[in-house]
Amino acid sequence: MKLTICWLYGTTMNIYGDRGNVLALAQRCRWRGIDAEVVTLGVGEPLEPGRYDLFFWGGGQDREQIPVAEDIRGPKGEVLRAEVEDGAPLLAVCGGYQLLGAFYRPHDGPELPGIGLFDAWTIAGDERFIGNVVVDSDEFGEVVGFENHSGRTHLGPTARPLGRVRIGHGNNGSDGTEGCRYRNAIGCYLHGALLPKNPAIADFLIGAALRRRYGEVALPPLDDALEAAARAAAVRRALATR
Ligand code: GLN
Repeated sequence: MKLTICWLYGTTMNIYGDRGNVLALAQRCRWRGIDAEVVTLGVGEPLEPGRYDLFFWGGGQDREQIPVAEDIRGPKGEVLRAEVEDGAPLLAVCGGYQLLGAFYRPHDGPELPGIGLFDAWTIAGDERFIGNVVVDSDEFGEVVGFENHSGRTHLGPTARPLGRVRIGHGNNGSDGTEGCRYRNAIGCYLHGALLPKNPAIADFLIGAALRRRYGEVALPPLDDALEAAARAAAVRRALATR
C-alpha cells in the first residue's frame, strides 16, 4: 500500500519543528511496510482533487500567512474542504489551523480570510502565548506540545475542541479548550513537533487515510515506548516550567 502526504506550504509555513510531523507520518507508515510519498504544495501550485491521502499544514508568522491566505482562497480551498468532507485526514498547526477557520485578524495588518473548514475564528491578542502545553483529550488521551502564538482562537457552536488544557494556554487562554476537531481533521496550537510524542494522533491520521484509500485496513501497533518516554519527559518539563 502507499499513502501520499500533501505538505501544504511546507517551504513557507514550517516553524518550531513542524516538519517533524511529516517525518513521523512517513516513518510510521514505512515501519509498517506502507510506502509513503511526501509532496510539498506551495503558493500558486494547484491542489489536485483525489491525489492526496493526508494533509499537513504547519505554522507560520503573520507575514508568511498573508500570501498563503490569498493562495488558499477560492478553488484551492474549496478542493481542500471537499477532500476533508470526503473523509480525508488533515492536521493543521497554529498558523495553518487559523487559516482553516473563518478568519485570522493579526495584531497589525489586514484581516486574513480562512476557508471556514472549522467553525472557529482567531483574533490576535497583545501577549504571545509561549510555552509547554499539556492537553487532556477524550479521543487521544494525554497530548503534549509547545505553543507560540498571538492568535486567540474561539470555537463556534458546531466546533468541538481537541481537548482541555491542563498546562498552558491553548486556543485562547480563557475557555480552557485547545484545538478543534471536524470529521478527520485536527487543528491545534501544538508545535514540537506534535506527532513524534503523540503517536496516537499520527496513527489516527494514517488509519483514516488507509480506510479512505483501501477500505478497512488493520494498522499493526508499533512499539511506542520511546514515544511514551518522550511524552512523559515533556509533561515533567511542562510542570517544571509553568
Ligand atoms: N502568526 C500566528 C500567530 O502569531 C501563528 C503563529 C504560529 O504559527 N506559531 O498567532
